[in-house]
Amino acid sequence: MSVRDWLRGLPKAELHVHLEGTVTPELYTRIAKRNGAQIPKDPRSLFNCHDFGSFLNAIVTVVKTLCRPQDFADIAAEYLVQSRQQGVRHVEFMFSPASIRHFHAEADPAVIATAIHEECRRAKAASGISSSIVFDMVRNLGEDAAMMDIDLAIKCRNLGVAGVGLGGDERRFPARDFVRVFERAQSIGLRRTVHAGETGDSASIVDAVELLRAERIGHGVAAAGQPDIQRRLRELKVTIDACPTSNAVTGAWGRVTPHPLEEFMHAGIPVSLSSDDPSFFGCSLLGEYEALAEQGFSNAQLAQIARASFTSSFADEKEKRIWLSELDAYLSQT
Ligand SMILES: [Zn+2]
Repeated sequence: MSVRDWLRGLPKAELHVHLEGTVTPELYTRIAKRNGAQIPKDPRSLFNCHDFGSFLNAIVTVVKTLCRPQDFADIAAEYLVQSRQQGVRHVEFMFSPASIRHFHAEADPAVIATAIHEECRRAKAASGISSSIVFDMVRNLGEDAAMMDIDLAIKCRNLGVAGVGLGGDERRFPARDFVRVFERAQSIGLRRTVHAGETGDSASIVDAVELLRAERIGHGVAAAGQPDIQRRLRELKVTIDACPTSNAVTGAWGRVTPHPLEEFMHAGIPVSLSSDDPSFFGCSLLGEYEALAEQGFSNAQLAQIARASFTSSFADEKEKRIWLSELDAYLSQT
């Protein structure tokens, strides 16, 4: 069996992917036409991001276009079909209601979340792939907007909203501004993930886990070469959702030295592998695993990452046990 086939068959979960970042240029074009939005001359080039500036431009253009429940449902449906073909058993979609409210005051994020959830249920019935929603709050929009996301999460309790995340500019809008939001999230049983140590420094990671009680850190590259911080993450059993291709494109880890995810694994930190905004970064979850295999990661290391993607997910324990036994069976047969 080729490495590619083995990795394709390897049961795995995608824990850090933005729903808006999974729309393909073709689907985006169809949605833009349907919504009467202006379509760039060459949509493919819009998606061909090469640095943080081009990514920001592309994601804002796309987010401004997506406004109807059907838009998000179509994106989720297409992505879940592709993911199932890559051996993915579970996806946690980050979706940003605050961006919807910001760009489309007339849209109802609860109706959009309902449409996404319906599509998740349909995909589960069709192929067995599981998926849930994580409301990704936006640092730049402040505490009040984030509190509205918590209100929405309460309203959407029955729509597979597993938790909340925090994204945006971590240097200008620090974690301490969102302590009350995360306390409230925790008090009502929402799981917590925070983008930290991507553009910010290692103090941003410490704040995310100490102040916001983040259970997972998105990116976390600023913990590289910081044994004290790595020890703290291990003690608190915090997972790093590593996104190597995203980091290379945006420059978050643009250095010639290898991505620090192996260093984190050696330090005993659970590490999962993720694609972040795959359509903009020209990557896929399977491609991320393949790239590590090409860099010399052993099958055992890659299986360890797949295992962490299940154990660190926000799914319930019963589901996790099923996926983990499927993973064990796969490893013993191949
Ligand atoms: Zn992200």
